[in-house]
Amino acid sequence: MRSGSGEGPYPSLNRRVLRAKTARIARLLEEFLGTPRQSTHLPTPLEMLIATILSQNTNDKNSHRAYSLLRKKYRSWDAIARAPRRSLIATIRVGGMANQKSVRIKETLAAVKAQYGEYDLADLKEKSNDDVIHELTQMKGIGVKTASCVLLFAIGRDIFPVDTHVHRICNRLGLTSGSKTPEKTFELMKSLVPQGKGYSLHTNLIRFGRKVCRSNNPACNICPLYNECVYESKGRRGRVNRTMTRADHDFMLLDNV
Ligand code: SF4
Repeated sequence: MRSGSGEGPYPSLNRRVLRAKTARIARLLEEFLGTPRQSTHLPTPLEMLIATILSQNTNDKNSHRAYSLLRKKYRSWDAIARAPRRSLIATIRVGGMANQKSVRIKETLAAVKAQYGEYDLADLKEKSNDDVIHELTQMKGIGVKTASCVLLFAIGRDIFPVDTHVHRICNRLGLTSGSKTPEKTFELMKSLVPQGKGYSLHTNLIRFGRKVCRSNNPACNICPLYNECVYESKGRRGRVNRTMTRADHDFMLLDNV
């Protein structure tokens, strides 16, 4: 038995059961929310990196506004790197935390230039997922979640990014019971997500986390995953709300860069 793995005394059997359960959850969410389709026009990895910085701690509509204003005002990454910070802050203010984000954007652009010699991350497309994650996380403030979002949303890899919301739901569903961090959940989920379902499961769990399995006061009474859930504080079951379906999709910044 691997101590501390959280897999129990029969790890491979348990992984098989968890793989089947994850596939079931992906299917139930597609029935409930629809099957998300990824755009065929993907942003560049650098566009995605900067958009991800702007998306932190704000809603997707405001961060999208901030991103659009940033790209409209400055003609190139070089112009953003050289812009006075005051002007950068004013441009992205609508996205919140403009002070911190302006610093992070400048630091990231400087790191890209230092590491790759230009404001371009296109070379990442030729590298393995592990290498991309390793390279991007060398930059200050870039974590595994951001690196895996670049892989999924800009490079089109079949990968399953885990933010705090996805982490919370995976734990409640008993897929990664006991995982303390999104990084650990990301590692545990790698072998569970069915092939080709990284985008669908990630996108639907984000939507599911906003609409139903919220951090506080989850709407367990309408939850389509009620029978899969092992959350000790889950509420009473009611009728699944079938009106909350395909037309009820939230805007997601990372799908609209
Ligand atoms: S039953 Fe409640 S806690 Fe469990 S997954 Fe559904 S909404 Fe979340």
